[in-house]
Amino acid sequence: MNTVTIDRTGAHKLVDAKTPMIDPFGRAVTYLRVSVTDRCDFRCTYCMAENMTFLPKKDLLSLEELNRLCSAFIAKGVRKLRLTGGEPLVRKNVMFLVRELGRHVHSGALDELTLTTNGSQLSRFAAELADCGVRRINVSLDTLDADKFKQITRWGELSKVMEGIDAAQTAGMHVKINAVALKGLNDAEIPEMLRWAHGRGMDLTLIETMPMGEIDEDRTDHYLPLSEMRDRLAGAFTLSDIAYKTGGPARYLSVAETGGRLGLITPMTHNFCESCNRVRLTCTGTLYMCLGQNDAADLRTPLRASDDDAYLSRVIDEAITRKPKGHDFIIDRTRNKPAVARHMSVTGG
Ligand code: SAM
Repeated sequence: MNTVTIDRTGAHKLVDAKTPMIDPFGRAVTYLRVSVTDRCDFRCTYCMAENMTFLPKKDLLSLEELNRLCSAFIAKGVRKLRLTGGEPLVRKNVMFLVRELGRHVHSGALDELTLTTNGSQLSRFAAELADCGVRRINVSLDTLDADKFKQITRWGELSKVMEGIDAAQTAGMHVKINAVALKGLNDAEIPEMLRWAHGRGMDLTLIETMPMGEIDEDRTDHYLPLSEMRDRLAGAFTLSDIAYKTGGPARYLSVAETGGRLGLITPMTHNFCESCNRVRLTCTGTLYMCLGQNDAADLRTPLRASDDDAYLSRVIDEAITRKPKGHDFIIDRTRNKPAVARHMSVTGG
């Protein structure tokens, strides 16, 4: 099927959406994650070095270009789109992109438009996000202790994030809390975070630290396998595996005592690549077919080569034929180099 889309200037474009994006392992690509900026107003110790070199601003796609790229993916079968970063809400005028993409939610072309944020700017944007069709957001929060929050994020204020969560819930969005499990930093606090999140009607998902990008410390110091965390939590809570899915990589458990859900994202101890439905676009138009591999496709060149999306569509199809079976992250003290040199903020977490 070919679909005709009309861009902001009123020009008609023909998008070849005949073939859904199926990779060599039979997995349909229906989920696009877009890092709208690699910049962030926090410097979480496990994510970034304090002094970061960011992508040159001149290499960034404009928001109009990002919108066009995202729309091409939607025409090719993407049903779920997540904006991430860096911190997506620090990109200037980002709400223009959110509003444009929200039109695909309202038209039914997209099942879900969502966002991963550190929450620092959420109190300003929550009502508008909801108005644009964002119904669920993930807020990354690793601790409820203000001093520890400062220690982990270096530059963040816990009270701002809490205001953001309040604003998001007031605006009617479902909030999920994502926490990276960090040995010796927040592991003892996870039961309290679970009760707090569930008490406010929010799911909590724990994430294992991934070896991505140079940071100022050794990641192995705080790496905590979630199999271990699960065993520890099972001492205090009744946990049961459930089939619940949100289209992402988390496996879910129900927690009888709180009535809430606990998600586990385990790229290290149990990789979830067999069901991977995702590709990742950076703010410079580079498409990564896997978070944990270096192979990538340049979409900026075909995007800028023509107003017609046919060439772009062919480059995307070719990229999908190169989607690898999976990542092979390893984290241990004998390997001092990250598995991939780029930080999570480039590809988008
Ligand atoms: N700024 C937004 C935020 O804080 O959610 C979006 C980008 S951030 C890179 C996305 C998620 O990746 C956050 O939950 C963050 O904690 C997580 N993250 C960053 N570096 C990571 C790493 N090396 N391993 C595992 N998770 C990481």
